[in-house]
This record gives sequence, structure tokens and C-alpha cells, in this order.
Amino acid sequence: MSDCTFCKIVAGLLPSYRVLEDEHTLAFLDIRPASAGHTLVVPRVHARDVWEISRTSHGEVADMVHRVAALLKTTLAPEGVTVKHNTGEAAGQDVFHYHVHVVPRRRGDGLLLTWGSPPAPAHELEQVLERLITAIRSGRCHQPQSSCE
Ligand SMILES: [Zn+2]
Repeated sequence: MSDCTFCKIVAGLLPSYRVLEDEHTLAFLDIRPASAGHTLVVPRVHARDVWEISRTSHGEVADMVHRVAALLKTTLAPEGVTVKHNTGEAAGQDVFHYHVHVVPRRRGDGLLLTWGSPPAPAHELEQVLERLITAIRSGRCHQPQSSCE
């Protein structure tokens, strides 16, 4: 057994507040909730982050996120929901088992989950887009278990 906290939760070796689960994923309450109902969705099979998780597993997690968001809407009636994932310490990832946060939101809840950035100049957006499109067309997609096509 690895030292991964979320693998231990999936295996039932650590306690958790399980919300929903299926063959591929588990959804459980974040014990440090940003708001009531803040839920984490993880794949049962360990993957470090969005760069390591397979497209198939990522799709299964996305499906569970969709179910959890619907459940939160019908039961807790939030005004909105934030779906969030961080890959890498630089982005704020703290547990290195892929997970997605599903956070119920209300107007004025004060959660600092937005950027507030000004619009970028068109030439900057075009420059980035050109690099991405060029990489896709040349097959230079550096995802080991996946493809960007
Ligand atoms: Zn794990």
C-alpha cells in the first residue's frame, strides 16, 4: 500500500464521509470545506495529477463530478458551484492523487476562487493559440498516457 492518503481513503483504511461512489471513482466530503457540501472526487486507481491520469479515468472522474454537482444542487440549493482542480505544487495541489473539488457557492460568499485578471491583448491570445494549434497539428503532445488529438 502506498503512502497516499486518498488511496487509503479509497481502500477504506482511513475514515471519510463518502457521498457517492461507483466502480471507478469515489466522492467524499472535504474535511476542510470551503463551503458546506464541498466534495472531492477521486479516481480509485492512483494517478498523481492531470498530466498522469489516463483520459479514460479523467472522463470517469468528470462523470462523477457531474453527478455530485447535480446532487448538491438538488439537496443544498446553492446559487452556483465551482469545479476546481490543481496540478502541481505551484498551482496549489496539496494531495498528490488526482482530485477535483466541487464547491457549492453563494453570492457574496467571499471565497477567493477567481482571478480578476484584465482581458489580455489579442496578440498575446493569438500567440498562445498558435503555439497550441502547432503542437496539436505536429502531434507534439507531451502526455504519456494520452494524446491531445
Ligand atoms: Zn493515491
